[in-house]
Amino acid sequence: HAPETLGVHESVGDVFPATVFRDSLSDTDPTVRIVGTDDIDACDALVTFAYDDRFLDADLDWIHSIQAGVDRFPFDDLRKREIALTNSTGIHGDVVGETTMGLMLAFARRLHVHRSNQERSEWRQPAWDDAFPLRRASVCVVGLGTLGQGIATRAAALGMDVTGVKRTPTPVDGVDEVYPPERLHEAIADARFVALAVPLTDDTEGMIGAAEFDAMRDDAYLINVARGPVVEQSALVDAVESERIAGAGLDVFETEPLPEDSPLWGRENVIVTPHAAAFTDDYYERIATIVRENLRRLGAGESLTNRVV
Ligand code: NAD
Repeated sequence: HAPETLGVHESVGDVFPATVFRDSLSDTDPTVRIVGTDDIDACDALVTFAYDDRFLDADLDWIHSIQAGVDRFPFDDLRKREIALTNSTGIHGDVVGETTMGLMLAFARRLHVHRSNQERSEWRQPAWDDAFPLRRASVCVVGLGTLGQGIATRAAALGMDVTGVKRTPTPVDGVDEVYPPERLHEAIADARFVALAVPLTDDTEGMIGAAEFDAMRDDAYLINVARGPVVEQSALVDAVESERIAGAGLDVFETEPLPEDSPLWGRENVIVTPHAAAFTDDYYERIATIVRENLRRLGAGESLTNRVV
């Protein structure tokens, strides 16, 4: 049934102002209130960024995560308490696709090195063979959902050779060859860029480790806009420190925020972004669109879209 009071958890403030989001839902039926964890009892539905175990004991029927990745939520406990969980997949393909292109362009065109030199007022041209064109460079996109397709279509538009990895290796627009996960090593072996776009699950945790870095080209770059634990971070640190691979563009990490003493911060061949690949000025409106649609569905007795639990 449709909620009477929809809570907007104050944690959404990490991504957009809770007030702006609340106001964008003013055309909907439920009372929309900004709440902290201590006062969610007043709500029967909650839109949130953070997860807290106390959500389980409140009177919630439905929780909406403003992130696509819901790996921090305890699916079994939610199921037991009959709390529906929906996520925000389906909306980040364009922006995360653009961020991924930005990271690949930075490495190919050496923009990250120029920016570092600028900070020291240093005019330094790259060696003749440092820069290369993205056109005809290859990218293997691991995971071909919303993010993966957003990356693949943009990479294809810049003339890159695009391959991908998908559990059911059926054809995907803009992807020249699709491999099943069992053939991951073969898929990544020839790629100049390996871009990760899978959710964090039991199957994908640690899917990129020492053996995969060995399988990659030594001039390859890893791009991770998925989730930190998809990559074994110690193996990644080894790979970039030993220059076993050429570098890495990383938006997500084993521990976030990335600890100050992480060796990844100081490396020229690593670009660190603070889990910001999906940040965009209309993020709140994209989330409001999903929430509005689910309020309509609940009112009409239809099943929820983007339902995970
Ligand atoms: P999605 O559900 O649209 O796509 C995920 C795809 O991965 C699906 O097609 C699924 O079949 C595939 N997949 C799952 N397991 C796989 C495996 N073992 N091998 C190959 N493919 C596999 O989700 P999405 O919106 O594309 O987001 C994907 C993930 O990216 C999210 O779960 C989230 O963790 C992360 N994400 C990060 C950011 C960011 O800010 N960096 C933003 C959005 C999403």
